Amino acid sequence: MKNRKMAIAAVAFAGTLFFGGKMVTTHAADTTTAITATKAPTQNQFTPSNALLHKSAKYYRTNYTKLRSQYRVYKSYQSGIAKNGQIKIYINPKGVTKDMKTSLRLAVSYWNQKLGTNVIKLNAKKGHSAEFKVASKSTDAEEDAYWDQDSRTLALDLKPYNKSLSSLSQQLTENYSDKLDKELEAKVKTYSDSLGSTTPDTTAKVQAYRDSLTAQNKAKLSEAEQNIKKDKLDYASRNLYYGAVLAHELGHALGLGHSPLADDTMNATSDSPEVHDYEDVLKAPKSGYNPLTKTDVSRAKLALQIFKAFH
Ligand SMILES: [Zn+2]
Repeated sequence: MKNRKMAIAAVAFAGTLFFGGKMVTTHAADTTTAITATKAPTQNQFTPSNALLHKSAKYYRTNYTKLRSQYRVYKSYQSGIAKNGQIKIYINPKGVTKDMKTSLRLAVSYWNQKLGTNVIKLNAKKGHSAEFKVASKSTDAEEDAYWDQDSRTLALDLKPYNKSLSSLSQQLTENYSDKLDKELEAKVKTYSDSLGSTTPDTTAKVQAYRDSLTAQNKAKLSEAEQNIKKDKLDYASRNLYYGAVLAHELGHALGLGHSPLADDTMNATSDSPEVHDYEDVLKAPKSGYNPLTKTDVSRAKLALQIFKAFH
């Protein structure tokens, strides 16, 4: 439940605005939601319906056990929710950077936007119900962040955080390189098709065309590498990546276990589009990008109804 592990996948992602590669996140086994051989539910089976989100408090109390197993929502995770139904997060300033705060604010905004209300709030120390802090004790550099329900702490582990920058930077470059390669192949094919039948003459022409595009791409890639450094796009990418990591952990704090659906932010081994094409990462602050899916959001609404029913 508590770990997000960074790994790189060279799978292309096509989102509303982002066409970069995906960052695969995996989690350590969770005793309550470990992936087993049981058949995974479909999206329909796993997404609480609108009707289910509007039942009586008594209904949620009576059917809690059934709802918990079908939708993987857990009261025990909800220790950070205050009586008024809000998660009021105090940011422990020790070691917290501006970029970390940016990621936390992104994560909070993703949920609040989708839940339609300020369910998660950044709070003064006084009256807080949960704490955000930087942890640096982990010896396992694969733990990105975690929600600890016992101490009501959302922790970001410093070691993997610092380490992530170079891999994100590399991924931005690789994504762009892949994109250029694909474009090249498409252009070469179009050109080759336009020439008609294959003769030694057309083969030579196609090769010359390919060579010139290859040279252009080399220059483009070199320019992109410089821009990534100049515009600090690796930092921007990390802010987004950790925005999704923390949104995942806040999902746990809201009461959600892992989702079996690959696209969900609450998936334990989810592909998520946090590593972007270097051209698109520039647009991210204004793109309206939000990694939460309908299933993530409906489950969180159900979890909050359950919370209210028991408080
Ligand atoms: Zn998790």
